[in-house]
Amino acid sequence: MDHSSINNFDFSLICEYFSSTDRQGPGSEASTLRALSFLTHLPHGARIADIGCGTGSSALTLARHTDAEITAIDLFPQFVERLQQRAAANGVADRIHALTGDMGALPFNADTFDAVWSEGAIYNIGFARGMQLWYPLIREGGYIAVTDASWLTPSRPAEIEEFWQDAYPTIGTVAENTDRMVQAGFRPVATFVLPHACWTEHFYQPQRQAQTLFLQRHPGNATAQMLVENQQREARLYDQYHQYYGYVFYIGRKA
Ligand code: SAH
Repeated sequence: MDHSSINNFDFSLICEYFSSTDRQGPGSEASTLRALSFLTHLPHGARIADIGCGTGSSALTLARHTDAEITAIDLFPQFVERLQQRAAANGVADRIHALTGDMGALPFNADTFDAVWSEGAIYNIGFARGMQLWYPLIREGGYIAVTDASWLTPSRPAEIEEFWQDAYPTIGTVAENTDRMVQAGFRPVATFVLPHACWTEHFYQPQRQAQTLFLQRHPGNATAQMLVENQQREARLYDQYHQYYGYVFYIGRKA
């Protein structure tokens, strides 16, 4: 989901635009499963929170490949509803509890979850703050697994530096984020960079089809036009500068 435009655009248009695609951020089933493979001590019937779940691609993957009970949370009711439909269609509605909520003020007790999962969403409160806020929700021996946009090199061209400084001022390198994770109390278990296909095939490509239909539904709507143009610019920047940044999966364990 576009980082820079969210405050400037009509939320209902953004929701409509992103409800029509399976993912709202870069990722893939293969990457979710790769991250899951590092959670070697996840118990049977684990309780997993998927925070900023969007329309639920990761929650559905986790439900299909584990026997966990998944609590999926997103700020936008439209996304939560879409996830509920998808969970029913996939026969996992009994193990996915989807609700609206704010990731900065989650209504859960301490030590509730065996794992906190979050793909492409922690940037909304910042990596360091997310790590700190979610730490108490995880029981001793439990896991955190998040993806976040990260710098892959120590320096980068001005155009892409400026784009991310504007979109996500606290974006860190992999080393900085690993350090933030450790500062919050986690032991780093694994990090890996998401492959290109997570951005191209699984994120920008499905949007291209959705963009045409979206603009047809909103002829002459300047906000809709701007939303599409922003997403297209983001995709072009990724094409040009992807050696400098990417989404990184960070997996950590509490103690
Ligand atoms: N995890 C999904 C969605 C990523 S996009 C995927 O990988 O496809 C980021 C998501 O964070 C959006 O669905 C957005 O609605 C949600 N979000 C933004 N601010 C939030 C907040 N304060 N609390 C909970 N969810 C939030």
